[in-house]
Amino acid sequence: MKNIAILGSTGSIGTQTLEVISENKNKFKIDLLSANRNYKLLIEQAIKYKPETIIFGDINYKRDLEKGLKNEKINIYYGEKALNNFTEFCNPSLVLTALVGKSGLIPTINAIKNNIDIALANKETLVVAGEIIMNLCEKHNVNIYPVDSEHSAIYQCLVGEKHETIEKIILTASGGPFRNKKLNDLKKITKEEALNHPNWSMGDKITIDSSTLMNKGLEVIEAKFLFNVTIDRIDVVIHPQSIIHSMVEFNDGSIKAQLGEPDMKLPIQYALGFSERIKNNYKRFNFSRNNRLTFEEPCIKTFKNLHLAFEAGKQGGNMPCILNASNEIAVDAFLKEKIAYLDMTKIIEESLNKISYIASPNLDQLIETDLKTRKYSKDKIKNI
Ligand code: MN
Repeated sequence: MKNIAILGSTGSIGTQTLEVISENKNKFKIDLLSANRNYKLLIEQAIKYKPETIIFGDINYKRDLEKGLKNEKINIYYGEKALNNFTEFCNPSLVLTALVGKSGLIPTINAIKNNIDIALANKETLVVAGEIIMNLCEKHNVNIYPVDSEHSAIYQCLVGEKHETIEKIILTASGGPFRNKKLNDLKKITKEEALNHPNWSMGDKITIDSSTLMNKGLEVIEAKFLFNVTIDRIDVVIHPQSIIHSMVEFNDGSIKAQLGEPDMKLPIQYALGFSERIKNNYKRFNFSRNNRLTFEEPCIKTFKNLHLAFEAGKQGGNMPCILNASNEIAVDAFLKEKIAYLDMTKIIEESLNKISYIASPNLDQLIETDLKTRKYSKDKIKNI
């Protein structure tokens, strides 16, 4: 029996993780759940899954939350500090980090320092501090099991292979809702259009990132750290059907791919169950009924965010941190309809140009870079 903590249990990945756990009650048990705002769903989940502890972001909902759970024996903690130090309240065998954005960084570091394996759904953590995280994992002998479907695919392709035989990692991308558009067409994109993803149903932030291809850019950087390869060994190919979830090319020219219907429950289940493959009844891919898998090159002139991410990944240091922070602020402003679609790229590009570069930042310097970039980006937004 694996004891699981879920950070971010009310979001898209969190709720699907709980479904996987419901389907495998003999294998997994919930130790801790955390949520930021959705107290109603957290109450439902806590009653159903009976964690020992829950952590809730917003102390203003204390009364509502505790009223909803008055018949349960659950320890409840509040706020960012409790979330960051969640390891003080539980000792799970695995923590699934499904927090949005940089908020996952400190809880993840604390988990690693407490020798808890990570199922990583929060790619921003690796983008911001990949080197620090991976070094800590090595020091504490902690495994990171990727939940991101592409990285789960790569992980599966690499089982049984030697690291030095990797020639290339090929990340597939659906291309998002604006795949066939030109730069000019993107000027007037609305929030509703951008939130309408063709293949995957996900949270708002990642859906916008998918539409701009920033999500793929963040995944390139995530792959660099997770699989310890240089950026020039990572390719992105557009594959609109989202059946091949990614590939690895080896030094003999052989390519391994992982395929399946697009369903996040599969990578979630693989990460929770590793090293065991768990039988399920999810929809199977049918080759004769879906006989066209197509591929094309991404257009980095139209989707400049992807180019910016490749550059930030190549430069390394605090550049991916700047990329991520300015992107988080830009996406938030776009979702609040304060800026136009293409302004997001402008803000990210200017932040990368203006915030000072640090070649090998420590954690404090990364946190400072993050704060500086957020402030800079917010000021830019005010003047748009
Ligand atoms: Mn992904």
